[in-house]
Amino acid sequence: MTAEKIVHISLTELEKNFQEVERGLTNQEALEEANRCLYCYDAPCTKACPTGIDIPAFIKKIASGNLLGSAKTIMFQNPVGASCARVCPTDELCEGACVLNDSTKPIMIGNLQRYATDWAIHNEQTLFTPGKPNGRKIAVIGGGPAGLSAARELARFGFDVTIYEAADQAGGLNTYGIVSFRLPQKISFWEVAQVEKMNVKIRTNTVVGKDISVSELLDQFDRIVLAAGMAQVPNLGIEGEDLDGVYDAIEFVKATKTGQLSKNFIGKRVVVIGAGNTAIDGATCSVRLGAANVKILYRRTMAEMTAYDFEYEFAKQDGVEFRWLTAPKRIIGDQNGKVIGIECVRMKLDEPEADGRRKAKPVEGSEFVIPTDAVIKAIGQTRHTALIEQFGLYHEDGIVKVDPETFQTSNPKIYACGDIIFGKGKGEAMVVSAAQQGKKAAAAIHREFSTVESLNELYPS
Ligand SMILES: Cc1cc2nc3c(=O)[nH]c(=O)nc-3n(C[C@H](O)[C@H](O)[C@H](O)COP(=O)(O)OP(=O)(O)OC[C@H]3O[C@@H](n4cnc5c(N)ncnc54)[C@H](O)[C@@H]3O)c2cc1C
Ligand code: SF4
Repeated sequence: MTAEKIVHISLTELEKNFQEVERGLTNQEALEEANRCLYCYDAPCTKACPTGIDIPAFIKKIASGNLLGSAKTIMFQNPVGASCARVCPTDELCEGACVLNDSTKPIMIGNLQRYATDWAIHNEQTLFTPGKPNGRKIAVIGGGPAGLSAARELARFGFDVTIYEAADQAGGLNTYGIVSFRLPQKISFWEVAQVEKMNVKIRTNTVVGKDISVSELLDQFDRIVLAAGMAQVPNLGIEGEDLDGVYDAIEFVKATKTGQLSKNFIGKRVVVIGAGNTAIDGATCSVRLGAANVKILYRRTMAEMTAYDFEYEFAKQDGVEFRWLTAPKRIIGDQNGKVIGIECVRMKLDEPEADGRRKAKPVEGSEFVIPTDAVIKAIGQTRHTALIEQFGLYHEDGIVKVDPETFQTSNPKIYACGDIIFGKGKGEAMVVSAAQQGKKAAAAIHREFSTVESLNELYPS
């Protein structure tokens, strides 16, 4: 399917466009692939996985038909391992490190991980049980990958855990932000259910700082894990942002994930601003909503783009056009306040900025107009600075500062993990890193309250 080909389309056809693109491996394919693995000692693939999944072990279990064991091996190290099987940039992580890159082609680790976890989902397996209660209470703020991972681990250690989640459902960006055709909601919901089965209480529709105060939480809980992620897309700061037809990419993707498919995009021209994964998702969703032409504008070049390579390729296959060194100057509306175009200016690259990326400067007199019916803003995410300040935590521009090993904040009773601590200039945030940080924060809290002996029991060498 390319952007140009879709003109007339029904809502049912649109729904089909949002079904998962990649099909899973068949039993035969999974078995053959598992048998290709060399089960390396000191496996480089495991070292390259931020959560340290024992990859040869889970692959061997697939080869021997032990799919429950395989799913447990994956999910033990990564409480959102079913989502990661679909959304991880595996070519930069485990598959990129596979020794078979040197001779043939790497093992399809992501697809095998999906095969084992899909089996567990399909067979409604419960993978873990809560630890013996230790009488301590922990509040986790945010039920995204970081919060779920921390909560699952804390429950395994015997803590009494409550997650406070602002949205209708937990799962964070796995539930609402990463497009359905790569990550269907049912996968995220299964991971949430696994955490609930550990006796973790999830209070949805509860905004910390509004529905429950920070001081109440500090009074009621022994420790707090702050895992609230990042917030909405920032404003571009140009004329015309309030026009009808201008969208926030995250809200836009969320609408498609919650079934609010609009026929308004059929045959339309769409311009997306930004070149990270959010921009790609905004563009590929527009194509699936029937847009006739989708352009991504980026002020720098392909070399500075932060979207993963596989996301970029995916967008190109969808027929999305990329306009490098192009920045928006103003959005143009008609007399009814509806978007009809965007004025842009050409850019040139200059000296590197503080984050190492080269600065882009406008080329004087190079303005031009691109006619468009919709503009999707995808230039990153703002920060939960007000919430962080309610907690009185040390932060830099809304990025909570933590100890890199324990994830403890400037308040020793509060830990933070996931996108809320993700710094600028570090490429794109990843689900798998958020999951690992949640695990490490949980382990640090456990260490605070327990003896070395009990740690050895839980993590036998
Ligand atoms: C469009 C898009 C596409 C992406 N694609 C990929 C991808 O392909 N692969 C990949 O690895 N990563 C991807 N990412 C990044 C990844 O989704 C994040 O790094 C990851 O979700 C971070 O997890 P988190 O738990 O820190 O935050 P989130 O997933 O954002 O979860 C935070 C949770 O906290 C809740 N919350 C916020 N404030 C409050 C409050 N005051 N009270 C209570 N709850 C609150 C939110 O509702 C949310 O549920 C993508 C991100 C975006 C935006
Ligand atoms: S590096 Fe490749 S071959 Fe070796 S264990 Fe990992 S997946 Fe198997």
